[in-house]
Amino acid sequence: MPYQLDRTEIQSLLDEIAGRMAGEVDRGEVANYIPELANISLNHFGIAVAPLDGPPLLAGDADLSFSIQSISKVFGLVVALDLVGATLWRRVGREPSGDPFNSIVQLEFERGKPRNPFINPGAIVVSDLILQNAENAKKMHSVLDFCRKLAEDPEISVDEAVFASEVATGNRNRALAFFMMAEGNIEGDPATVTEHYFRQCSIAMSCSQLAMATRFLAARGKGTADGKAGVSPERARRINALMMACGCYDPSGEVAFRVGLPCKSGVGGGIVAVAPGRGSVVAWSPGLDDKGNSVLALKALEEVALRLNWSVF
Ligand code: GLN
Repeated sequence: MPYQLDRTEIQSLLDEIAGRMAGEVDRGEVANYIPELANISLNHFGIAVAPLDGPPLLAGDADLSFSIQSISKVFGLVVALDLVGATLWRRVGREPSGDPFNSIVQLEFERGKPRNPFINPGAIVVSDLILQNAENAKKMHSVLDFCRKLAEDPEISVDEAVFASEVATGNRNRALAFFMMAEGNIEGDPATVTEHYFRQCSIAMSCSQLAMATRFLAARGKGTADGKAGVSPERARRINALMMACGCYDPSGEVAFRVGLPCKSGVGGGIVAVAPGRGSVVAWSPGLDDKGNSVLALKALEEVALRLNWSVF
């Protein structure tokens, strides 16, 4: 049955889900290993759908900014691929990790080549590539600028308190960077490279902004109408494939089973899902499960995919 986009139908589904999520008791736990992330209330829930055309549809706290954390790894990857193309894959793999996003042990077995760009060591290599290859003035801003362009919102910025909190507590990530340097897979200064990585993780966006910023992945790479941002259809297809296989870390297979869409999550509680040819969906609630994925966001995405029949399978 061909899909007919009905904005009213989607809006009432989002309202229904947001209403139900407000009453959920099992909301997971906020990430507290980055102290600043622990200051947020578990009660938040927001959801946004950006169909291929027109403004996004919103419900709950869809306009509140939150820390995008690992979702930034998608934007970082696009920026790095623009700079270095397929040579990136010499330094980062394309396989699911089956391990936590900050695992150190796997990296030792695999001689410093991260399994994929959506776990921490992979994104740290991506940051190194950006720093080594972007023009000076653009280095620290390229990922943020890309988010602003895609979402067509110059106000998007880095949450400096979250950034400071990550710098203060990010020794595990620094350890990953130093280890990869020892294996010849980090070229720059590991402290500067991890700082770039922390900065991109600390970008704050709302569900509404994120849905607009990730819609290009549902639109065969077409970003803004003026063509200022976006990627080729081929690249969009491949990023979606990586998100399906690796976007939610260790339980990516479980997420593919439940949602059936390419997804990317972050420990700020956001999850982006891409429905190719239809639109992007972003759900946010700060409470996480024991693998670092938002409990309610995952539940909500599962329901959207099912009710709209948006799964790719
Ligand atoms: N900044 C976080 C970290 O480095 C990102 C992790 C995540 O969202 N999974 O641990």
